[in-house]
Amino acid sequence: MNGDEPELLPARMLNEFTFCPRLFYLEWVSAEWAPNDDTAAGDFDHRAIAKPSVPLPDPDHDGPWPAVRAVALSDPGWGLTGIIDRVDHDDETVPVDYKTGSAPRNGHAWPADRIQILAQAALLESAGYPVNHGELYYRKSHRRVDVAWDDEGRRDLRTAIANARNTAAGLRPPPPLEDSPKCPRCSLVGICLPDEHNLLTARSARSPRRLVPRDPDQRPVYVLEQGASVGVDGGRLSITRQGEELESIRLLDVSQVNLYGNVQVTTQALRQLWAHGAPVLWLSRTGWLDGWSQGQPSKNVDLRRAQLSAHIAGGLGLARPMIAAKIRNQRTLLMRNHPSGVPASELTSLRELSHQCENAQRRDELMGIEGTAARIYFDHFGSLIRDEEIAGLFDRHGRTRRPPTDPVNAALSYAYALLTKDVVTACLGVGLDPYLGMLHAARFGRPSLALDLQEEFRPLIAESTVLRAFNNGEIGIGSFRQTSSGTAFTDTGRRKFIESYERRMEEELRHPVFGYRISYRRTLEVQARILAAVLIGELEDYTAVVTR
Ligand code: SF4
Repeated sequence: MNGDEPELLPARMLNEFTFCPRLFYLEWVSAEWAPNDDTAAGDFDHRAIAKPSVPLPDPDHDGPWPAVRAVALSDPGWGLTGIIDRVDHDDETVPVDYKTGSAPRNGHAWPADRIQILAQAALLESAGYPVNHGELYYRKSHRRVDVAWDDEGRRDLRTAIANARNTAAGLRPPPPLEDSPKCPRCSLVGICLPDEHNLLTARSARSPRRLVPRDPDQRPVYVLEQGASVGVDGGRLSITRQGEELESIRLLDVSQVNLYGNVQVTTQALRQLWAHGAPVLWLSRTGWLDGWSQGQPSKNVDLRRAQLSAHIAGGLGLARPMIAAKIRNQRTLLMRNHPSGVPASELTSLRELSHQCENAQRRDELMGIEGTAARIYFDHFGSLIRDEEIAGLFDRHGRTRRPPTDPVNAALSYAYALLTKDVVTACLGVGLDPYLGMLHAARFGRPSLALDLQEEFRPLIAESTVLRAFNNGEIGIGSFRQTSSGTAFTDTGRRKFIESYERRMEEELRHPVFGYRISYRRTLEVQARILAAVLIGELEDYTAVVTR
């Protein structure tokens, strides 16, 4: 909390701290949260007891007590706050906490649960109630475990509070647990990336376990039909036009909604999408990203501050590995796909240019290296396209951005636009500001950080999609038309190309550093998290994705 911590520590956070100090920091200081099956089961189990019942009777109340549930108490003396599931009273007052899982076999409480019930006992006692013990009820094993509120309990609670506050005052999260059996079931495992951090900081030499799914369960939704409207209907996203339903998708299955051109979205749909963590992106018909909306932005203020500092400092250290990786990936793509082989001197130049990135001292120097590499790369890119007419058109013009002069340039620009909106979404999910970049100058309307982070992925995702789509015959010369602003996809061509891009995003690669297989889509998120960890000083260097 950096000397600015809230006064009162929630009893639940003491539970998290005892379970894992890093989990506590991520949740309380960085305000990170992610549900998983265990947290969902806990929420479900707490539905009935989470509603406050009658007020807690006075400590000197005579006679029997009614059932008292969801009792909120705070005490500045202990510096604690908390909600007690149930308070019983007979000769003494007993805090009762419900747990979804099983009790330990040794008859004691789990250490994290013990600290939490001790904190609740302290809150009740400070409010004037006579407390000698607390009670934990483990639903899965139907077991009740008593925890004594005695001198030892008071001492342990004081120590836990002091240690938690110390941890919260740190500038960055404590390191992850090492090879811990706790991590696979931790709801923040996808945010924490424990084994990956331990490998990158040399705390462990073991290959990371893949603790997150290979590919997210949710998928982007694209709405390209002009005049369509996006609404919600009973937990489903409903896309309609002139009263006819075009598509209906479960909200749970949606990761982002992309609205192209003249498409409307209802306020109800926006609210429900935000509640599910799915941003809505508005794009022009030609794929240019106009803007986006999301629910509450990330509460991780420390990360935002660190990003701003890196942006002001120029961020060259972060941009170098991204550009070096891009050049290496361009070289690999040429080597893998060129029908007659790229001259050895050109491949050597690309390798040398990628090495030069590591020593670039200024932004313009780095951009100069990148420009030289791009010229070599795009000089050969047309040769990778099998259709001679299409390749010839590209070779005649070379890489042109605005306006795209031929089908390959139009497809490349469209692919970069698709990648940009996906990297923007990855940045938003991690709490990074997509506009505050390192290499690309901050300009109005330009998501500079997303452009930086996509560099290493351009050959891997965007340019690979273009090659495959042409060479597999998914798109061809008939998929494009000439407009006043250059060559553009036809509606059918655009649809086919988006399908091709989405297939590429679902494909898996063996992560070059972590060794496990994950989808390109998931890799974008992992790289955004690594970037965030470097920005807050948890990791020293950014490690880019380079394929062989
Ligand atoms: S994944 Fe493991 S190290 Fe990371 S917060 Fe959770 S329990 Fe702690």
